Amino acid sequence: MNRKYRKTVIAGNWKMNQTASGIKPFMEELKAELPQTKSCDIVLCTPAVMIPAMIRGGKECKVAAGGQDVSKYEKGAYTGEVSADQLADIGAKYCIVGHSERRQYHHEDDMLVNAKAKALLEKGIIPIICVGESLEQREMDLTIEYITYQVKAALYGISAQQLRHCIIAYEPIWAIGTGKTATAQQAQEVCEAIRIVIRKMYGARPARAVSILYGGSMNAKNAAELLAQPDIDGGLIGGASLKPADFAQIVKATTQ
Ligand code: PEP
Repeated sequence: MNRKYRKTVIAGNWKMNQTASGIKPFMEELKAELPQTKSCDIVLCTPAVMIPAMIRGGKECKVAAGGQDVSKYEKGAYTGEVSADQLADIGAKYCIVGHSERRQYHHEDDMLVNAKAKALLEKGIIPIICVGESLEQREMDLTIEYITYQVKAALYGISAQQLRHCIIAYEPIWAIGTGKTATAQQAQEVCEAIRIVIRKMYGARPARAVSILYGGSMNAKNAAELLAQPDIDGGLIGGASLKPADFAQIVKATTQ
């Protein structure tokens, strides 16, 4: 983390778990575990239907609400889709785009991720742009090349001014929901490479200011070591964000 230049962000991804009525008891438990003063921004990304409940429930703990996906279209005949305008209207402040589960199960590619990030920025929502390599790509020593391509494609046409409102999340696919975490060194190496790509695209200042998160089986035990890395500015957390005590522990790890 480098607090001097950028924000520390701990974001949970609840995926298709929990219910709106479960948010109140979750927050009560979280409140009891969280420190009074927080040294990071806290976000919980839920299915869109739960965002209003998250905004109500998250107020006391200063938890911002985020979505998990958005349509690239502004409006129209796209049954089942949720637009950036609709997310902004119900109070979402953040939204994940390009999560590997969307890429895998919904065949989302880098161009679509780019279009979705732009749609969110248009409506003042911070995109949390996910990138990450597969195990095969890592074993073939293609990690840095592949991540470089993903970052360049995701940020194509996004201005330096807009970049200030973007977050990048490095999520190696092989570490998501598997219990296999990247070592702190592996995670730092890729997050540093992402910052280098951004520096080449936008210059030193914007690169220094962009928050880069690590995601992939981050938990109460390994968070402190990952967050101590100079280019890791927070976490995107799946499984552990569903357990208030564990999530609070990760938030606390940002103060170490
Ligand atoms: C995720 O889904 O973004 C994620 C990182 O999941 P987990 O923490 O469960 O690996």
